[in-house]
Amino acid sequence: MGTTPSPVENMDPDEIAKFEALAERWWDNTGEFKPLHDINPLRLDFIDARAGMAGRRVLDVGCGGGILAEGMAHRGADVIGIDLGEAPLGVARLHAEESGLAIDYRRVSVEALAEEAPGRFDVVTCLEMLEHVPDPGSVVRACAALVKPGGQVFFSTLNRNPKALALAVVGAEYVLRMLPRGTHDYAKFIRPAELARWCREAGLAVREQSGLVYNPLTRRYRLHPTDVSVNYLMHCQREDA
Ligand code: SAH
Repeated sequence: MGTTPSPVENMDPDEIAKFEALAERWWDNTGEFKPLHDINPLRLDFIDARAGMAGRRVLDVGCGGGILAEGMAHRGADVIGIDLGEAPLGVARLHAEESGLAIDYRRVSVEALAEEAPGRFDVVTCLEMLEHVPDPGSVVRACAALVKPGGQVFFSTLNRNPKALALAVVGAEYVLRMLPRGTHDYAKFIRPAELARWCREAGLAVREQSGLVYNPLTRRYRLHPTDVSVNYLMHCQREDA
C-alpha cells in the first residue's frame, strides 16, 4: 500500500499543521484533546451497538493520536488508522505499543487508500475530521468505496448554525478555553442534510443520526436522539449488499 501522499490531494496544510503542533498533548485527557477523550466512550458505544466491533476489520480515517482507534481495538476490532499528520501518527504508534494493541497506522490519504483497497473493510469510521478538509464530499465517497457492500460507515462533525458557532467556537475556544483558538473554522462546519446528501450520492444509506450534547453545568456530554444542533454522529450503510 502507498504511504506517500500526492501533492494535489484533498488536504489543507494549515489544518494538518495545527494537529502536528499539538500532537504530544494527544493523550493528556485534561488538555486540548479533552473533548475527544470525554466523548470517546459515548461514540464507541454508539458504533459498537450498531456494527459490533469484535472481529471486525475497521478503518479509522483521520485517526490522529488514536483515541477512537484504540477504543475500537480494545473491543476486539482489527484496526487500521490513517491520517496525513506525521506527528499524530507517531504518537498513535507509541501509545498503541504502550497499550499492547496491534493497530496498523499509516500516512496515506483516504482517496489513495480507496484506490488501493476498495471494499476491504467491514466498518469505516471518520469522526471529527470532515470539518478540517477542503472537499468533505470526496472523503465521504472514498469511505463509501473502502467499506464492503452492506458494511457500515460512521461520520461525526459539527453542524453549521448560530448555536454551533456560539458553543463550538466562541464557547469552547474563547470562553471556556477548552480548545486552542483557531481549532475550528465555522465556514467548514457541515449541516446534517449536506452530509446526508453526500452519503446518498456515494451509495450510502443513512440509517440514523444522533446528537452529542454538552452540558456546561455538569461538564458532561451525552448522546441525544434528536438534538443534532452542534455535534452529531451519522450512521450509514453501503447499499449494494
Ligand atoms: N478522528 C480522531 C481525531 C480528530 S482530530 C478522533 O475523533 O479522535 C482531526 C484529525 O484529522 C487530525 O488528526 C488531522 O491530522 C486529521 N486530518 C485533517 N485533515 C486531514 C486529511 N485531509 N486527511 C487525513 N487526515 C486529516
